[in-house]
Amino acid sequence: MDLQISAEDQEFRAEARDWLHRHVPARRLPSLETGAGFAAHRAWEQELHADRWSVVSWPQQYGGRDASLLRWLLFEEEYYAAGAPGRVSQNGINLLAPTLFEHGTEEQRARILPEMASGATVWAQAWSEPGAGSDLAALRSTATRTEGGWLLDGAKTWSSRAAFADRAFGLFRSIPVEQSGARHRGLSYLMFPLDAPGVTVRPIGRLDGKPAFAEIFLDGVFVPDRDVIGEAGQGWRAAMSTAGNERGLTLRSPGRFLAAADRLVELWRQVGDPGDTAMAERVADAVIGARAYQLSAFAAASGDGGPTGAASSLNKLHWSELDLTLHETALDLLGPDGELADVEDWSEGYVFALAGPIYGGTNEIQRDIVAERLLGLPKGRRG
Ligand SMILES: Cc1cc2nc3c(=O)[nH]c(=O)nc-3n(C[C@H](O)[C@H](O)[C@H](O)COP(=O)(O)OP(=O)(O)OC[C@H]3O[C@@H](n4cnc5c(N)ncnc54)[C@H](O)[C@@H]3O)c2cc1C
Repeated sequence: MDLQISAEDQEFRAEARDWLHRHVPARRLPSLETGAGFAAHRAWEQELHADRWSVVSWPQQYGGRDASLLRWLLFEEEYYAAGAPGRVSQNGINLLAPTLFEHGTEEQRARILPEMASGATVWAQAWSEPGAGSDLAALRSTATRTEGGWLLDGAKTWSSRAAFADRAFGLFRSIPVEQSGARHRGLSYLMFPLDAPGVTVRPIGRLDGKPAFAEIFLDGVFVPDRDVIGEAGQGWRAAMSTAGNERGLTLRSPGRFLAAADRLVELWRQVGDPGDTAMAERVADAVIGARAYQLSAFAAASGDGGPTGAASSLNKLHWSELDLTLHETALDLLGPDGELADVEDWSEGYVFALAGPIYGGTNEIQRDIVAERLLGLPKGRRG
């Protein structure tokens, strides 16, 4: 592995740092899980896009800079180090876009990607259903053939920020299992507007009172053929490429955790007890975890381009458990002060970190995938 970062790559990094230094809002934006915060974060996406920083790794024709994986990693490091706002467009740019690059048509890419890059269209992921989470192939929502397209019926749940998003991408059964022969066959991957006739979006009450998480009900929603990704009935393949990106590097880059590790070290310097060697070791372990994730990403950048398939499950276990370690260590360092508003970054971050082992496929399932497909261990008994 060649860890030399060329002068040109360093220049790219410096340009990103300089831009972020001049543009990152001095005050934290309101939470992107609220209506006002969502709008403020969409405006931030537009600002990033205006100077072509919203999707650096994409081709220029769609608003990107054709940046290599390494440059994207450097950009992400600078982004999080600068304390820049969360990405309200993350479902689109990190999950749907890579799927469109791999399985979409040229027409879909030309129509969809520029508006995604600018924040004009913000996407939600509509996969989970009551009764179909870990076992996604159990989904019951349907796509029924009609003239020129499909009619969607059913209910989706746990859709992040769907209460405010513009469009959604989801999986639907278009061929009954009795005909397709297997549950993973006969599924179609479709995109639809969240304000189309027949769509009802109902926010799910969260413990923190923020209203962005939602259920989506579909009642005969028309989707034209041009909004099917890949071949109708073959949606599982494209869906697995979306899942690979959710678990792989794309959704959670090392920059996010390196920035948190730096903050943790700063916190240790401020409030840590130098005599508490057990706590010092926990801080060191968390920092080592973040550095290890960075180095594995650099290895991917100088090699095969990043974890895909079953290897992305291993990656997801790493980042989601690292996030918890970082936040638990910070809260233990703070003690009861961790609950105070001026250090709320850590307690809010902790609550979100708790969800990491659940979204993107639970860590129990990822361990099964690693055991069976990477290590070749025998399949467990399923209930
Ligand atoms: C913050 C957050 C954001 C989310 N955003 C979205 C989104 O935008 N779009 C979307 O579609 N979904 C989203 N989800 C839903 C998420 O994908 C599901 O919660 C997840 O797939 C688990 O499904 P489930 O909740 O139905 O749990 P279940 O599948 O019912 O699992 C319950 C428990 O049983 C365990 N379990 C289940 N099957 C097995 C097995 N075979 N072996 C061992 N253990 C097993 C699981 O690991 C888990 O601990 C989000 C979830 C969270 C928490």
